[in-house]
Amino acid sequence: MLDKVVIANRGEIALRIMRACKELGIRTVAVHSQVDADLMHARLADETVCIGPNASKDSYLNIPSIISAAEVTDATAIHPGYGFLAENADFAERVEKSGFTFVGPTADVIRLMGDKVSAIAAMKKAGVPTVPGSDGPLDEDDNRTLTIAKKIGYPVIIKAAAGGGGRGMRVVHTEASLLKSKHITQTEAKGAFGDDTVYLEKFLENPRHVEVQVLADGQGNAIHLGDRDCSMQRRHQKVVEEAPAPDIDEEARQAVFASCVKACIDIGYRGAGTFEFLYEDGNYYFIEMNTRLQVEHPVSEFITGIDLVKQQLLIAGGNPLRIKQSDIQFRGHSIECRINAEDAKTFLPSPGKIDLFHAPGGPGIRVDSHIYSGYTIPPYYDSLIGKLISFGEDRPTAIARMRNALDEIVIEGIRTNINLQKEIMADTNFQKGGFNIHYLEKKLGR
Ligand code: ADP
Repeated sequence: MLDKVVIANRGEIALRIMRACKELGIRTVAVHSQVDADLMHARLADETVCIGPNASKDSYLNIPSIISAAEVTDATAIHPGYGFLAENADFAERVEKSGFTFVGPTADVIRLMGDKVSAIAAMKKAGVPTVPGSDGPLDEDDNRTLTIAKKIGYPVIIKAAAGGGGRGMRVVHTEASLLKSKHITQTEAKGAFGDDTVYLEKFLENPRHVEVQVLADGQGNAIHLGDRDCSMQRRHQKVVEEAPAPDIDEEARQAVFASCVKACIDIGYRGAGTFEFLYEDGNYYFIEMNTRLQVEHPVSEFITGIDLVKQQLLIAGGNPLRIKQSDIQFRGHSIECRINAEDAKTFLPSPGKIDLFHAPGGPGIRVDSHIYSGYTIPPYYDSLIGKLISFGEDRPTAIARMRNALDEIVIEGIRTNINLQKEIMADTNFQKGGFNIHYLEKKLGR
C-alpha cells in the first residue's frame, strides 16, 4: 500500500482524492498556490506545502516544485487528479525517475494515447471502432489528401495529432477549401503544439458523446465499468453527465466494452481510464482516450458501487485488480450536474466570496465540492466549484432527486449556473434522453 501521497491538484478533486486516501489509511500532502492555503482539503491534509505563486504555471504546473514537495515531505506517490499535469507524460516520467509512484499509467502509455494518430492506430489494432479517416498523418502529397477526403465523403475534419482541449481542428465542407484548411491547421498546430502533424477523418454531424470507464492493473487484468453519456455540452465543455448512457444498442455496447478491455490489455494500461466515443446511428467512433480520472467519475461509482479513486490508489500500490468483470453489477441511474461559478448569460467566470453555502441532501444525493460559507473563489483557476450527483433506481428518479437537490442548494455571493441546470433537468427532451452534442447550444441559442 502507498504510504504517503502528494495530491498535485486543487478544488473538489483534491478533496475527493484526500477522502479516498484517508479511507485507505494513506497519509496526505496537500500542495497549493499562495492563494489556495485556505482550500478545504489543505485544512484536512496531514501536511501542506506551498508550491508557488497563484498562476497555475508557477504552482500546479510547476513540475520541480511539486517533486520537491514530495521530497521534503518524504512522500511515496503523487496523484495528479485531472487537468493540470494529469496527462503530461514528461511529468509522469519525472515523478517516476525521482523515485516516486505516479498514480496513473506509465509515461509511455500517456505518450501513446496523447498523440491522436498513434492512439487511433493502437485502437484500430485492438479492434476498437474508429472514425473512417486517413489512417495516419496527411503527407505533403495534396492529391493524395484530396483522394482520401473524396473517398470518405464530405464533411471531413482535419485534426492536429498533438491537439487537445478542442483546439487544433477544422471542419471542411467542400473540396474547394480542403487544401487551404489542411495547410492552415498544419501551421496552427506547429505554432500551438510544436508539431505540424495533422490527419483527417469523417465529420459526424449529429453524434452523441458516449464514453467507457475502465480500470486496469498493468498486470494483465482489465475491466470496464460501463458507459456515460456526456452529450449535454457547451463549447465542448460537459455540463451534465449520466450513467448508463440512455437508449444505446445493446449489442454494439457490449462489443465496444469488450474492445476497450482488450485495448487496455494490449497497450499495458494501468489505472483508471476513459475511452471517448462519438455515437451516431447505433455506431461507435473512438475519438480519444483520457489516461486519468474524469470529472464525471462519480456517476459510474453510483451505478457500480466501485470507488474509482480507491482503486487507482490500490493499483498504484502494485496490487492486482481484485474486482472481476462478473463482480460488477450495474444498478439504477446516476446524473451529475457541474456547478460553475459563472454568469448565467455571458458564461464568464464569477469568482468572489461565498457568503452562504447550504448543501442539499436526501436519498441518492452526493455533493463533491470544496466550497464553504466564507470561502473566496480565486480568479486564477477553473470555474468548477462543485458537482451534484444523484442516483435513483431509474432515470426519472435520478432526475427527480437532482431537481430537489438543485432547489435545495444555496450559494450566495457569487453567480452560478444553478438555474441553467434546473432548466436542463426540466427540459422535456432531456427527460426523454439520448439527445446529441449540439442539443444544449441549440436550446440556449448560443
Ligand atoms: P480534444 O482532445 O481537443 O478534446 P477530441 O478529438 O476529443 O479533441 O474532439 C473534441 C470534440 O470535437 C468532440 O467532443 C466532438 O464534439 C468534436 N469532434 C471531434 N472529432 C469529430 C468528428 N470526427 N466528427 C464530429 N465531431 C468531432
